[in-house]
Amino acid sequence: MDTSDLPPTQKGRHHELRARGLREFAGLLRDEQRLDPFKLAQYAKLLVASFDRIEPLLTEETRAELIGKGKDKWSGGAASRTLPDGRRLIILNPTHGKNRQNATLMEEVCHVFLGHKPSRLAIEKRDKAGNIIARDYHAEIEEEAYGTGAAALVPYRALKGFVEQGKTAAEIARHFNVSRALIEYRIKVSKLWDSYKENIFQTVDRPKPYR
Ligand SMILES: [Zn+2]
Repeated sequence: MDTSDLPPTQKGRHHELRARGLREFAGLLRDEQRLDPFKLAQYAKLLVASFDRIEPLLTEETRAELIGKGKDKWSGGAASRTLPDGRRLIILNPTHGKNRQNATLMEEVCHVFLGHKPSRLAIEKRDKAGNIIARDYHAEIEEEAYGTGAAALVPYRALKGFVEQGKTAAEIARHFNVSRALIEYRIKVSKLWDSYKENIFQTVDRPKPYR
C-alpha cells in the first residue's frame, strides 16, 4: 500500500481505512465524490425521522428544550430501542444547517458500521509501566465514530489535493457539503495545516503574472 496516500498519524490511518470501506460500500469510486449520509443511513438500517414528525409527541417543555434554549446542546440522537422492523430511529437537530446534519448523521452511521454498542462501558488499560489507566470507552468510541465519519465525508487524498491547489476551507466545504469547521478539523488532524496556510497565502498574495 502506498502510505503517502494515508494520513501521517496512526489514529488518522485507523479512521481513514474504515472511512474508505464505507465509501466503497456506498459505491463511490473517486475520493473527490460527495458522500450522501442519508443514503448510507438506509443501508445502516437507520430511520431518519424529520423533527416535524416527532414534534407532536413532545411536551411543550421538551420541545422548548430541544429547539429553544437547549438547541445548541445536542446535534442528534438515536433511540435506544430498535423499531419492530429492526431499524433504529434517528433524529437530527432541525435548528442546525444541512452541513452540520450531514456530519451528525455520518457519526450515527459510523456507530452502526463500527459495531459500537450504545451502552456506556469502562475498560481498563495499562500504561508501559503497568499502571492501570482508567479509560472512558464512551469518549473513545465517540471519537472513533466522529473521526471515521469525517474522513468518509472528506477523504484524505482529496483533501490533500485541494489543499495543495490552494483551495480555501470554505471552498472545500462547499465541495463536500460540510461545514467549514469540519474541513478545518480534517486539515488539522491530517497534519495538513502548515501546507494549508502556505498554499492559501500563495493563492491570495501572489501577484498576477503580467507580461
Ligand atoms: Zn456518537
